[in-house]
Amino acid sequence: MAAPEPGTQVQYGKRAGDHVAEAADRMARSRTAGELEKLEEEVRAALAKLDAGTYGRCDGCNALIPEGRLGALPWATRCVDCQARLRH
Ligand SMILES: [Zn+2]
Repeated sequence: MAAPEPGTQVQYGKRAGDHVAEAADRMARSRTAGELEKLEEEVRAALAKLDAGTYGRCDGCNALIPEGRLGALPWATRCVDCQARLRH
């Protein structure tokens, strides 16, 4: 069986959902209420993208979000560039 091409979404799906929930839970232990609300919003958005089949794609430019970024921030809905633009 061939390994999935780097950048495909084969490795996501149900497991990604678990990963998002688990990481959110871990983050939640060290966050204030205001930050938690924001986090919950972001996690919901990521789970909605999972449902829609667009998980792992940037909301801003539709590029694939690098796996390294999703590993650190599983609910990321934008690539680093688009996220940075949002903050300006
Ligand atoms: Zn982007």
